[in-house]
Amino acid sequence: MQSVHVVIIGGGYGGIRAMEHLAHNSHITITLIDKNPYHYMQAEVYDFIANKVDMSAVMIDLPSLTKSFGLVEFICAEVNSIDTAAQNVSTPTQTIHYDHLIIATGSRTYFPDFIKGLREHTHGVKSIPSALDFKQQFERSLLNRIEAQSLGCDVEPFNIVIGGAGLSGVEIAAEMAAYANSFYQNGNFGCRGVDVYLIDAYESVLFGMDSFLIESAYERLIKLGVHVWHNNRISEVREHEILLDNGKTLSFEFMIFTGGVCASTLTQYLGFETNNKGHLNVDEYLNLPNHPNIYAIGDITNALDENGKFIPPTAQLAERGGESVARNILRTLRGKEKQPFRFKNQGVMIALGGEYGAGLLPGGIKVKGYLAYLIKKTIFRLYTDPLRRRSTIGKRR
Ligand SMILES: Cc1cc2nc3c(=O)[nH]c(=O)nc-3n(C[C@H](O)[C@H](O)[C@H](O)COP(=O)(O)OP(=O)(O)OC[C@H]3O[C@@H](n4cnc5c(N)ncnc54)[C@H](O)[C@@H]3O)c2cc1C
Repeated sequence: MQSVHVVIIGGGYGGIRAMEHLAHNSHITITLIDKNPYHYMQAEVYDFIANKVDMSAVMIDLPSLTKSFGLVEFICAEVNSIDTAAQNVSTPTQTIHYDHLIIATGSRTYFPDFIKGLREHTHGVKSIPSALDFKQQFERSLLNRIEAQSLGCDVEPFNIVIGGAGLSGVEIAAEMAAYANSFYQNGNFGCRGVDVYLIDAYESVLFGMDSFLIESAYERLIKLGVHVWHNNRISEVREHEILLDNGKTLSFEFMIFTGGVCASTLTQYLGFETNNKGHLNVDEYLNLPNHPNIYAIGDITNALDENGKFIPPTAQLAERGGESVARNILRTLRGKEKQPFRFKNQGVMIALGGEYGAGLLPGGIKVKGYLAYLIKKTIFRLYTDPLRRRSTIGKRR
């Protein structure tokens, strides 16, 4: 078998999975490039911003992790161009040649331009710095508020607004409400606490998902005291105020926007075929059209199922994509035909604040409550424990 060099851009869920599946082949050398020296497990960020865990719980050191794999080099840099004719990837300081390329650079929060002030006045959670900023400012504001209450309870409301009631918005709203409730109970503070508002343009939370998940999530959010406003379109966001299409306004201390995602900025510079949000179009093998040695996986793609239906981006989709492209690179090296990517959803688990969750397991089995929470945490441990063990090995090398 000939020796080849595989370059993977992006050390997220998809990129890491592809690396794991390719790394044990002595004919393959790998370069993993990420603009950050850590893998950010953003699907668990709600625990971090609600103070349940510290930052290290949602990060894995990429230099240590890659070292544990032997023939893998890690470069911490932002890729800004790809020369497909010369088969080179460039960062501001280096040019790296590839035989096979995997693009796995994920997504970022989409701030629609037609909502004035949205980008300027809201927080995102899709990067560690933005999640950390939110968390620190939130805690400082909590303390300020408690100090202000020494003069009496008649203070301005402390509202947190979450814009967008998809999976991440629901998880964050539930966890923030559970955290705020227990914070005020723990300190026996007598005055009114924090109000969490979840605002969404659709007619239900988790719109488009299974009705069991929608009902379980709604029930739990209401129990936690979250104000759920459906069918409410945000028209403008000011420094501490949100305006809705129906004329309603709401003051807020903080707003997190989770209303949509678009492709990471890299695709803007590449000139490859994309949809209107910059996601790369891919064929059935997750190859870019007319580029049989360039693959794209995870949130960066406009992945479609066998019926041409868009597959919602999840960590699960990114990981399965990583495995599929790794298999196809190995098949190509062995002179075999590639196999099409077929995504079979293994279910979904949603964290709903405190030790509570809801989910659908393979076979359509429905779970909610503490058991669902335990299953979700077990899935997370099964993902992180092997990576942490590996990065401990790499750290010693
Ligand atoms: C709050 C929240 C909750 C979520 N909950 C769930 C859940 O419960 N279940 C689930 O399956 N999914 C969940 N998701 C979605 C999931 O996190 C994403 O689908 C997943 O992260 C996509 O993986 P990826 O590998 O495509 O990209 P990412 O994990 O985003 O990784 C992309 C990597 O590329 C790097 N990068 C980007 N641009 C460049 C560049 N130009 N050069 C070099 N490196 C670059 C980034 O630093 C990053 O490390 C959640 C997301 C959020 C925000």
